[in-house]
Amino acid sequence: MPTLKDTYPLYLNNKAQQPNTDLAVTDKFTGEVAFRTALASPEIIDEAIAGAARAAEPMARLASYERQAVLQHCVERFTERFDELAYALCVEAGKPIKDSEGEVTRLIDTFRIAAEESVRMYGEVMPLDISARAKGYQSIWKRYPIGPCSFISPFNFPLNLAAHKVAPAIAVGCPFVMKPASKTPLGAIIMGEVLAETDLPEGAFSILPASRDGADLFTVDERLKLLSFTGSPGVGWDLKARCGKKKVVLELGGNAAVVVDHDSDLDDALERIIFGAFYQSGQSCIGVQRIIVHEDVYDRFRDMLVAKTKTLVAGDPKDRDTFIGPMISEGEASRLKGWIDEAVAGGATLLTGGGCKGNMLEATLLEDVHKDAKALNEEAFGPLAILQKFSSFDEALAEVNRSTFGLQAGIFTRDLFKMFDAWDRLEVGGVVINDVPSYRVDNMPYGGVKDSGLGREGIKFAMEDMTEIRNLVIRRG
Ligand code: NAD
Repeated sequence: MPTLKDTYPLYLNNKAQQPNTDLAVTDKFTGEVAFRTALASPEIIDEAIAGAARAAEPMARLASYERQAVLQHCVERFTERFDELAYALCVEAGKPIKDSEGEVTRLIDTFRIAAEESVRMYGEVMPLDISARAKGYQSIWKRYPIGPCSFISPFNFPLNLAAHKVAPAIAVGCPFVMKPASKTPLGAIIMGEVLAETDLPEGAFSILPASRDGADLFTVDERLKLLSFTGSPGVGWDLKARCGKKKVVLELGGNAAVVVDHDSDLDDALERIIFGAFYQSGQSCIGVQRIIVHEDVYDRFRDMLVAKTKTLVAGDPKDRDTFIGPMISEGEASRLKGWIDEAVAGGATLLTGGGCKGNMLEATLLEDVHKDAKALNEEAFGPLAILQKFSSFDEALAEVNRSTFGLQAGIFTRDLFKMFDAWDRLEVGGVVINDVPSYRVDNMPYGGVKDSGLGREGIKFAMEDMTEIRNLVIRRG
């Protein structure tokens, strides 16, 4: 079993630093302090932003093969340190070890995709002679890095969601300052350790957990040209309002729905929906929260879901048999327990689960939930899924769209017409056919509409956001 060090440094302008302010990070299952690191003060963050501003030009001058070499180094080192990284996630996030390993695999994919994309920053040649006025003119455009970037990441995928900002920034040549979540900073810190082994220009990166005061600079400082934020909708939209002239990308929350039509393979849908609803205790922005089932198969599918949910093993995330680990905190578990109790008091039926001890909330299924209940309309972000019945496909799509969120939706159907209909009519960033909304591969465009965010990640798409087109117009004399 790998072990963690007692203390970890911050990374300021590419170098390890050990400031005095203490941040104790707990093992989310045992509650004991697992390691210590530090919170960056506003002065340190200011130094990091100044370093990033100085690094903008040398970063922009790096050749494609040099940026690619840095990313390939990361792929190699993450592969060598696979077990240590998975263990770090398991401890700091309470993420079951199999899910933690899955996240490290995705981290490696994310850097590998970025290494490939880093040599494909293509532009375009456009004839401009579309009228007599422009005879003899043509345009050539290509992308230039936008400059120093500000990254803020959430607790639930400490490595791979940091990677979705860091890897494209290196691929295009943008320096960055990153603030990981204080509850789970280690994934990003180890990324800093690996980046510090490369010869990126000084100031190219800083990785700094920060208190609320310091964190404000990540939003308001004018030297930073883009904010890429992944986290809760309340925080994200509030930060956007204070971003000034920066470009803003927001990857926020949701209450994702999956539709199960009457012609679906119910055994296949069951396995996938159980995973989508309850993996990493439902703490995924695309976790299945609403299961909308055709009336002809509703009773049968509900019984299958309840039976399967009761078999899920809950407990120590370090144990390979564990499927349901702890939630990130006792406060979060009791918040969701309160929503479940409120829904039941409002007439919902508790099909299974509902019990809560400390930060361990049981995998819970509800049906007949009132349409105004928080459990249905807000983001649960925990091990709760709600069954709903539909009689026509139109009704199912309308129910998916009733949400104020719009990240991804899943549709189980064998009907090609319905697949395209769902794609056309659902107000989401992505529709997944014959799988759960929780499905994501790291090169695909990924992001939300409505309250779920703004812009897209997925390496190639993040690279577009981190660059600006500069046009060259040529007149043949
Ligand atoms: P959060 O909003 O509490 O925190 C996210 C990050 O923002 C953390 O680093 C936090 O320290 C920081 N932060 C909070 N207030 C800030 C402020 N005023 N100024 C600067 N930084 C601030 O979210 P969380 O609890 O860490 O993560 C869960 C949320 O993230 C859920 O809503 C989930 O749906 C969402 N999420 C979205 C995606 C996506 O890709 N769309 C992925 C994962 C998580």
